[in-house]
Amino acid sequence: MNYIRMGNHDGCFLCEKIKAGDEEKNLILFKNPSVAILLNIFPYNNGHLLIAPSRHIPGPEEFCPEEVLEFWKALDHSLKALRESLKPDGFNIGVNLGKVAGAGLESHFHLHVVPRWNGDTNFMPVLAEVKVLPQHLSETYRTLKSYFKENPVR
Ligand SMILES: [Zn+2]
Repeated sequence: MNYIRMGNHDGCFLCEKIKAGDEEKNLILFKNPSVAILLNIFPYNNGHLLIAPSRHIPGPEEFCPEEVLEFWKALDHSLKALRESLKPDGFNIGVNLGKVAGAGLESHFHLHVVPRWNGDTNFMPVLAEVKVLPQHLSETYRTLKSYFKENPVR
């Protein structure tokens, strides 16, 4: 994540992905003026999603009411998409606010949604993950994207 230039929206990888035209290349599953759902390019587990406000804001304190509603709808929809498509046994859902809490990108708020399966406590070794990542990610992307196409966020 060291390519992120802090304090500069132009260098924010979330803003870049949200504003880019090519949704598949940027792993965008859904976006509207309030919120975006995308696959994390560095997944902790298969189907690891990020949900972020479309605006470059550092925390939920700055959400307008519309963004609160859209953000929660996006979470609800993401859980349904993951349950339906990948059949996880559970989820970790969380936010790292601030460097001390482990945030890789502090200036643009995002929620992690990590599907969990029974027996997955030993995550794929880092090297194996790097090797399988591209195909792994694009397959997961297509699976989830087709769910989002067939089931629009309302
Ligand atoms: Zn941003």
